[in-house]
Amino acid sequence: METKIIPVEEGNINKAAMREAGEIIKRGGLVAFPTETVYGLGGNALDESASEKIYHAKGRPSDNPLIVHICRMEDIYAIVREAPEPAMKLAEAFWPGPLTMILWKSDKIPYATTGGLDTVAVRMPGHKTALALIEAAGGYVAAPSANTSGKPSPTLAKYVAEDMDGRIDMILDGGEIEIGLESTIVDLTEKTPVILRPGYITKEMLENVIGHVETDKAILNNGTGQAPKAPGMKYKHYAPKGELTIISGSRGKVIEEINKRSREMRRRGEKTGIIGTDDTVDFYEADVIKSAGNREEEATIARALYRILREFDDEGVNVIYSESFEETAKTGGMGQAIMNRLLKAAGYHIEKA
Ligand code: AMP
Ligand code: MG
Repeated sequence: METKIIPVEEGNINKAAMREAGEIIKRGGLVAFPTETVYGLGGNALDESASEKIYHAKGRPSDNPLIVHICRMEDIYAIVREAPEPAMKLAEAFWPGPLTMILWKSDKIPYATTGGLDTVAVRMPGHKTALALIEAAGGYVAAPSANTSGKPSPTLAKYVAEDMDGRIDMILDGGEIEIGLESTIVDLTEKTPVILRPGYITKEMLENVIGHVETDKAILNNGTGQAPKAPGMKYKHYAPKGELTIISGSRGKVIEEINKRSREMRRRGEKTGIIGTDDTVDFYEADVIKSAGNREEEATIARALYRILREFDDEGVNVIYSESFEETAKTGGMGQAIMNRLLKAAGYHIEKA
């Protein structure tokens, strides 16, 4: 299959391209498109065989459900059995935007889309190209991140092409993604809402709208405790090809420990890479040194993280050390989301300096 790549601009919707992309999805094909979080791989959420194609293109285990993307608030009623008040309050507050809600599914949504679950994940993305595409495609687009299962989610179309070229019909290239980490997922099917995946919308932001919210305890643990409730969170995920280790501790000790390990690995002939931050990168010694961004502005780190992991792959780095973002994680904001993805990328391999 030849994959057509079309450049698109959020501020200037190309109606002909949207019509063509929408037709592909209506016919049962797949189109990758930009959202504000990461690139999505879209297919018709109401079409069992389209969902199967998505799993196949990604090499994704079929028990790992897909998020259904909508473009109009009222469309939620068609795909859920009930829309409880907290869900509608959250939708009102954060949609269109980077929030996914888990609700009981209606019969309209096939089990192929929900990985066999009776619940469905729903989101209305805050990206004009995504909204235009969903509308052109009939209103219900199942879209996981547009990467091969296990790889970092793509924040640039060239990484979508790297994973999906020849496997899908079309890629809408909207340039670099704004947020860079996947949506916050909150489960509203139980008495107390539970965050299953941290993201740009924080616990505090949710609590300001609906009161007490819990966080799935499996999110920041070492992977040995209870299984996470979002099926996708249990897989080793987001991982670069190189062996990644996170080093935590005070700034000076971390720099010293990472340099010591990097020197030793280079002596053994390994190509090493280091993930630092703007104020530490000048102090490192390695083959490839990258700044994740500015610790004072964690959005810069969220946006860069997946791109950096992919770049280490491009440059053939086989041993990677990263600074830790534990402290950022404690201060709220996107720190918890950043640390959650970094831990998964490292297979929970974190050591103290
Ligand atoms: P992705 O689409 O790649 O961002 O991954 C979607 C995430 O949402 C995965 O971690 C899924 O396990 C999770 N998810 C989707 N639907 C459900 C659901 N019904 N219940 C719990 N988690 C879900
Ligand atoms: Mg994904």
